[in-house]
Amino acid sequence: MADSIKNLIDKFRSLPGIGPKSAQRLAYHILDKARNDGLNLAEALQHSITNVGHCKICRLLCETEICQICANPKRNSALLCVVETPADVVAIEQTNSYRGRYFVLGGRLSPLDGIGPNEIGIENLRALLTNNIEEVIIATNPTTEGEITAEYLALEIDKRNIKCSRIAHGIPMGGELEYTDSNTLERAFNDRRILVAKQSL
Ligand SMILES: [Zn+2]
Repeated sequence: MADSIKNLIDKFRSLPGIGPKSAQRLAYHILDKARNDGLNLAEALQHSITNVGHCKICRLLCETEICQICANPKRNSALLCVVETPADVVAIEQTNSYRGRYFVLGGRLSPLDGIGPNEIGIENLRALLTNNIEEVIIATNPTTEGEITAEYLALEIDKRNIKCSRIAHGIPMGGELEYTDSNTLERAFNDRRILVAKQSL
């Protein structure tokens, strides 16, 4: 195999979610059948890497110093939702149900991998925790590291007498109890909420 092809396969493999087979398929597809698509991809990568940075306030990806969400006066600046990645913001925005602001950690605490508070921008977050904030919603993932991060953040937020909440985790819509693992089911029970009848029958 030519060195250039090997190199291209290696570069694809370095991306998350792409194994050796997929990397090889992508490299051969581009070189064999989609050379223009490949050049367009290279150009889009170059352009976005040059032009996209992190919002100075919330660390979301954007092409300006301050992102559209932080700059939008209609967003509720008393609500702050803390997430792990910019992709999490996109997912929450797609629900159209949250009108506050965000903070993107850019990772999660993982003591075993040497990822501490300094590696995930806790300093930037501390600067945002002012009197104007009424509630911080912690929306880190329900993984071991996501939970460690949530607990660490809860302590920091509590010190400042700011209300702190954690998004609920449990049975997905359309899911069935019978097929739900016991950790998820336990969590769903612990995070239960009071059900109020919407109207009397
Ligand atoms: Zn922002």
